[in-house]
Amino acid sequence: MLAPLTTLKVGGPARFFVRCETEEEAAAAVEFSESEGIPLLVLGGGSNMLVSDAGFDGLVMQVAIKGILAEDGSGGETRVLTVGAGEDWDGFVSYCVERDLAGIECLSGIPGLTGAAPVQNIGAYGQEVSETIVSVRCFDRKTRSFVTLGNDECGFAYRKSIFNSDQAGRYIIVSVRFRLAVNGRPKIAYGDLRSHFGGREPELREMREAVIAIRRAKSMVIDPEDPNSLSAGSFFKNPIVPKVKYEAIAASFDGQEVPHFNAEGGLVKIPAAWLIERAGFHKGYRFKNASISSRHTLAIINSGGATAAEIVGLKDLIVRGVKDRFGVELLPEPTFVGFS
Ligand SMILES: Cc1cc2nc3c(=O)[nH]c(=O)nc-3n(C[C@H](O)[C@H](O)[C@H](O)COP(=O)(O)OP(=O)(O)OC[C@H]3O[C@@H](n4cnc5c(N)ncnc54)[C@H](O)[C@@H]3O)c2cc1C
Repeated sequence: MLAPLTTLKVGGPARFFVRCETEEEAAAAVEFSESEGIPLLVLGGGSNMLVSDAGFDGLVMQVAIKGILAEDGSGGETRVLTVGAGEDWDGFVSYCVERDLAGIECLSGIPGLTGAAPVQNIGAYGQEVSETIVSVRCFDRKTRSFVTLGNDECGFAYRKSIFNSDQAGRYIIVSVRFRLAVNGRPKIAYGDLRSHFGGREPELREMREAVIAIRRAKSMVIDPEDPNSLSAGSFFKNPIVPKVKYEAIAASFDGQEVPHFNAEGGLVKIPAAWLIERAGFHKGYRFKNASISSRHTLAIINSGGATAAEIVGLKDLIVRGVKDRFGVELLPEPTFVGFS
């Protein structure tokens, strides 16, 4: 069953399942799926995935390659570390913070494995993982060989890379190389954090603790005691719209501030949570056994015994509501698995 391997705890069985602890095992698993003619799904920590009730009629491979290796001679102002795809992401962040290595401290508390971090270019509190990635080593299913893709070949953008867009399914990430700043200062790009420290520049360790505390208050860290954390994190991306669209929305909210951020190419990013709330979906809104978290509008949670169909049902209600109210199409963030 795949449900226990995901943070939403929904989803049916996999036909085959394998944990790969070496690059050779990963290549052999791909070989098996191809020789048997069955589909392949790469699973990390299942924290950004919605598996259908029917499950996955193919081979699910979990990349469990471990290890954090500091590159020889990478002294000086930066340190280069190669990390196995199967390393727990937050464990790696903690490893870096303990050693005063800066660059990923704002990404504390994000669940999942390191191999998945480049896939949607994880980000939080003004930091994105692409800022520190040097290269990504993968098994390329097209050429049937291991390749190393430099940062500029990964097509990183907001919650996007080649791994979840035009080349989705092609590469199996086996390790990621990072460049971190030795004794670097933490990044404080977010109002929440600035006010937390009252203008003072914190230590890296304090930044990590603050990020985790803020996330915990929103149920954005996995905690078996917290029913609101039975989620896939933010279920929707913040939509990026043409400026005229934003202006039309702002005009319809006479005198009220419509939150927004400038995005590349003169476009405007509007917080999905704001749109969802204004479309009438509030924290705690329930559809059968699926709900909006009572602590975070962007998180859809399994309120107990939810099916994947119920999660999708709530997602569809929200997407339709926002579309009808604002003419904006919300796109889900998690990968949907086993849906036709
Ligand atoms: C409570 C909570 C909070 C979250 N907060 C954030 C946040 O602040 N910011 C953010 O960006 N995300 C957040 N997320 C989403 C999620 O944690 C990240 O996207 C994470 O990187 C997913 O890792 P995973 O190992 O669980 O991947 P999975 O969910 O297992 O997989 C996600 C996708 O990556 C692919 N994949 C996984 N491993 C590999 C690999 N080795 N090679 C190739 N493809 C692979 C899968 O096929 C799938 O398409 C949150 C999730 C939860 C549950």
